[in-house]
Amino acid sequence: MDLSYLAANLADVRERVAAACRAAGRDPSEVVILPVSKTFGPEVVRAAMALGLRRFGENKVQEIRDKAAVLADSGIAWVVIGHLQTNKAKDVARLASEVQSLDRLELAEALDRRLRHEGRQLDVLIEVKTSPEESKHGLPPEQLPGFLDALRAYDSLRVRGLMTMAVHSDDVGAVRACFRRLRELRDAAQARGHALPRLSMGMSGDFPLAVAEGATEVRIGTAIFGNRAHS
Ligand SMILES: *Cc1c(COP(=O)(O)O)cnc(C)c1O
Repeated sequence: MDLSYLAANLADVRERVAAACRAAGRDPSEVVILPVSKTFGPEVVRAAMALGLRRFGENKVQEIRDKAAVLADSGIAWVVIGHLQTNKAKDVARLASEVQSLDRLELAEALDRRLRHEGRQLDVLIEVKTSPEESKHGLPPEQLPGFLDALRAYDSLRVRGLMTMAVHSDDVGAVRACFRRLRELRDAAQARGHALPRLSMGMSGDFPLAVAEGATEVRIGTAIFGNRAHS
């Protein structure tokens, strides 16, 4: 992939994030961009590294395995953002720096067991389902309080915040309501004593709305790497 193409896209995304921050009265340093490299090969990740990027979001553990094998010792932090099957816990404990799609206790249990085995800890975000779409994953919002309490039992999981995918819609109000919902759930949980500083929300098509609602991290694939052949 052409480096100048990636560099121009990245600069554009950074500028749009900064503009969204200014419009919301926020400091641009409050919002991290997570580049989502799913479906792009290790050579594209390497090109992105030449631009200074070190964290990459992936939605399939097998893809992390394949890329990590080629890019060994490159110091990349792989971030799992996709729905995670419990039987992938072993690879995640070995390869990932972070999971943003924790959505059930069975998975927390499996990750914790494997992480203990590896002698590691992992930052996790809880994925919450804020959209009615069948295709979206995540914990039902009403289960969040109990889930947060239950996670206290797993020492190897450092719960840092919440993640969501908004409804896929042209209705700006409906999209924004998903992001607002996540922030309100976070605020309510913090009032009950759970420290949840991070809100991962917003993708290429909707990140300005997420920034307006308090995102601390936006997950950007297409706007940086271009269209995916399939996903
Ligand atoms: C693919 C993906 C993204 C990035 O999507 P784009 O629209 O390409 O920016 C963000 N979050 C999750 C969970 C994804 O699977």
